[in-house]
Amino acid sequence: MEYKPGQEWYKRLHWQVFIAMVVGIGIGFAPFGPFFAEHFGWLGTLFMRLLRMIIVPLVITSIISGVASAGGGHVVGRMFGKTLTYYLVSSFLAALTGLMLFNIFNPGRGYPVTDTGAEPPELATPDSLIELVYTVVPSNFFEAASAGDMLMIIFFCIVFGVAVTTLPEDPRTRITGLIDALFKAMMALTTGIIKLLPIGVFGLMVTLVDATGVGAFGNLAKYVAALGTGLGIHFFITLPLLLYFWARVSPWKHAMNMREPLLVAFSTSSSAATLPVTMTTVRQKVGVSNRVSSFTLPMGATVNMDGTAVMECVGALFIAQALGADIGFMTQVVVVFTALLASIGAAAVPSAGLVVIFIILGAIGIGDNPEAMLIVAAMLSIDRPLDMCRTAVNVYSDSCGAAVVGRWEGEEGIDAEIRG
Ligand code: ASP
Repeated sequence: MEYKPGQEWYKRLHWQVFIAMVVGIGIGFAPFGPFFAEHFGWLGTLFMRLLRMIIVPLVITSIISGVASAGGGHVVGRMFGKTLTYYLVSSFLAALTGLMLFNIFNPGRGYPVTDTGAEPPELATPDSLIELVYTVVPSNFFEAASAGDMLMIIFFCIVFGVAVTTLPEDPRTRITGLIDALFKAMMALTTGIIKLLPIGVFGLMVTLVDATGVGAFGNLAKYVAALGTGLGIHFFITLPLLLYFWARVSPWKHAMNMREPLLVAFSTSSSAATLPVTMTTVRQKVGVSNRVSSFTLPMGATVNMDGTAVMECVGALFIAQALGADIGFMTQVVVVFTALLASIGAAAVPSAGLVVIFIILGAIGIGDNPEAMLIVAAMLSIDRPLDMCRTAVNVYSDSCGAAVVGRWEGEEGIDAEIRG
């Protein structure tokens, strides 16, 4: 979403969504609520279909363009390894933080799902580690893509992206040029669909209130608390520790140098929209070389989303728990692992994190559960402020990554002082 300072408040998407939510809830509670739910609930369903429609092409183009942008050659290969190490470690820690907070808050316990007399769903989890690997490696990519099997799609795209980086310049730039263009088109489409959010949220809210009543909001508050605490821990503890130990720079100076991109991330809810500000700031104020920052940041904006990883983990487990499913150890392993992949697959535009939550729901076998849809709908209605915070965390992790890789490449002077 474009960031337009000074735009009238009612033209801003988050206000529109907020108003749609309040109106939807109000109407849902009114005596004519059920009438509205019956006649306008389809707006919500249609919106959810549009979101799900874009997942597969969005994830494919996002990952291949992110990974393949690494370029070719020996030096690039080395930087690629370092960058990927930082991304994987930081996102994995983020997902683990999400898991811990879920277990502390248990936000889904006592969620008032409609009593249809149905048994709580059995979660599909692999019995062993090798089975887990089988759920990720496709035997036929096209079959996986048409079935929307996200884990397999993501796996293929990552290895394909890496293969592209090994090609000679001519075929490599031709492939990356095409995929980049497709990715931009998918981002434009996603942004367009997200603009319909107020209408979708209205339809979803009317249905939600009709189906579950007010009780659901207590659980949502717990979900917000768990997620907010997780994002706070990652931002204020984990990332500063990584910065300190890996880059040997002062987390305070780094945060102060990064003020502007953090504010832009917060107000746009889009790492992609923030990227130009992030790149300029990391070069000029943080003091990372052009070589490292132009390599790590664009890829980071697309694939390194720590805030989103926290949210995927808390969110998916919240939904499973709300449905009354039994959440065992293996389920938690699958969720952490898929939350990591989902955060890699999420596009850097507003609310993309909630779009890809279906990857995890699919992996644990509740992707098509109608009650799960309703809960995702409820989460969507309150997603904007959470999205603002997790986008700031996403961008912050990217800049920490640039500082760490810069340091690993032997650069001096990173965050040497706070630069106005
Ligand atoms: N809005 C986030 C970003 O652009 C992605 C998300 O929805 O989690 O970084």
